[in-house]
Amino acid sequence: MKIAVMGAMPEEIEPLLDRMDGYKRVDYAKNSYYLASYKGLELVIAYSKIGKVFASLTAATMIEKFGATKLLFSGVAGAIDENLKIGDLIVATKLCQHDLDITAFGHPYGYVPEGSVYVRADEELINIAKDAASEKNILLKEGIIATGDQFVADEERKRFIAKTFKADAIEMEGASVAVVCDSLDIPFFILRSISDSADMDAGFNFEEFLESSAKISADFVIGMLDIIAK
Ligand code: SAH
Repeated sequence: MKIAVMGAMPEEIEPLLDRMDGYKRVDYAKNSYYLASYKGLELVIAYSKIGKVFASLTAATMIEKFGATKLLFSGVAGAIDENLKIGDLIVATKLCQHDLDITAFGHPYGYVPEGSVYVRADEELINIAKDAASEKNILLKEGIIATGDQFVADEERKRFIAKTFKADAIEMEGASVAVVCDSLDIPFFILRSISDSADMDAGFNFEEFLESSAKISADFVIGMLDIIAK
């Protein structure tokens, strides 16, 4: 079993690489992949770069070229649910693309023919996350994550996404990774720690909290790997 652990930005995977027993870098398709070992587990770790296209490429590469059979995503997101504060953790039960729009043809937002508005994450991996959370007494929210090629820093857009998709958090990669993994039949898991509230202050908060929130998410994924390695 080889497990892919991916992020979107360097800050999201650096705390993971720091915890590995060892790794070697392989460059492919204008990106770097780290073949790592942790407590006897074989991992492939990478950050994709930001957005749905890069994230899809990286997820597909981890599976098709590097042979990953499960995928865990770790990173940061903007909060939509008011109860989510900076540093809180949310795991996606299902994900959607908030910027996918062919409503002109009578379809719902987020839908294209032969696709679906939501893609569900793997329940077994979510259960491992729940075990990791209760072991360490960490609060882990489950909810809907909306993805789009847009950094949302606007109350009106945020309200639209909340209302249309019942989303709890917003980011720029998760749903594309979900579509790739679902298509290739690979169990996946998307975890995010809150870096901002997708409002007027989002840019400022993001810059301040990216590193600390990314580490909270990465540390949690390490806790999950500890359970998987047992
Ligand atoms: N700081 C970067 C840009 C970050 S884009 C630069 O200047 O190069 C935001 C990243 O964090 C994306 O990977 C996205 O998944 C996540 N994210 C955090 N808050 C977000 C928000 N409010 N809206 C969309 N994505 C958000």
